[in-house]
Amino acid sequence: MSNEIIGHKNIVSQLQNAVKSERIAGAYLFSGIKGVGKETVAMYFAELILCEDKNNSGSPCKSCRGCRKIENGNHPDFRIIRPDGAQIKIDQIRELQQKIHYPPLEGRRKIYILVNTECMNNYAANSLLKTLEEPPSASTIVLLTENIETILPTIRSRCQVLPFYPLAQKELTVALMGQFNIDEHTASSITILSGGVVGNAISLIEQDSIGEESVPKILIETEKLAAFRLAEEFEKDIENLDKLISWYRDLLFIQQDAPIELLTHRTAIEQLQMLTPRYSRVRIQQSIKTVFKTKELIKNTNVTKILALEVMCLQLLQDENSS
Ligand SMILES: [Zn+2]
Repeated sequence: MSNEIIGHKNIVSQLQNAVKSERIAGAYLFSGIKGVGKETVAMYFAELILCEDKNNSGSPCKSCRGCRKIENGNHPDFRIIRPDGAQIKIDQIRELQQKIHYPPLEGRRKIYILVNTECMNNYAANSLLKTLEEPPSASTIVLLTENIETILPTIRSRCQVLPFYPLAQKELTVALMGQFNIDEHTASSITILSGGVVGNAISLIEQDSIGEESVPKILIETEKLAAFRLAEEFEKDIENLDKLISWYRDLLFIQQDAPIELLTHRTAIEQLQMLTPRYSRVRIQQSIKTVFKTKELIKNTNVTKILALEVMCLQLLQDENSS
């Protein structure tokens, strides 16, 4: 893990100050969408608390026994709890409750991080609430959630709540250039595609999906029967729907002679320019709506994924004359 946290400067300095002034709360609730950086910051916080190098400059040293043990997952005062299957189970909470009452063994506090706290059933949540009501003094629980609305208000009110937001474009672009040794053009394309979510940006870089890009087949295809094959491809990687929207948006930009800096897929500009005669503004806007609608359907209803994708592909392949 890198020593530098990307973004979330206010939250990081708030946590640093808490550690420095020894005013660490008994419970925190980090809320924000998947990949935004909650777990990275929570790990950083744990290292900050358990780092044994007292001369550190407000950041964990990464080399003392405490820091190394956290990194290797064998610090006796630190645990990260994730859903076991789809849920955080009552047994996992009971185990936490038993152990948290023992004093720390090597560090000055015990730290527990709960990932996806929203995946707790009521039994587990009520049980956790008991611990939050009477927290052992030398302990801190950090709850992470992608959906704060589903966390019991009684739990929320006992935590210091820290909301995590996607990063501003400029901030993420600069950070990516610094940490991954990529040029500004690539960094800014990745930033746009990632929606400001650091986790998305990093996985895009790891996939090496930027560079030589080719236009998605659905934009090029004219044969309606291709819809079924294309739907299958989208089903394998549903994240591609977000990417698809960015391609349509680029088409729209090209059509409106927008400055090239606005394009996400600048390396594919020639291919896109060849396609523009086939796409009117209305068709592009409708296509974007169709993709959004399909995403919503898949996310929020129990529609059969492949069916929704087939309908989407058929609609996207429909040019205006035939619609
Ligand atoms: Zn250290």
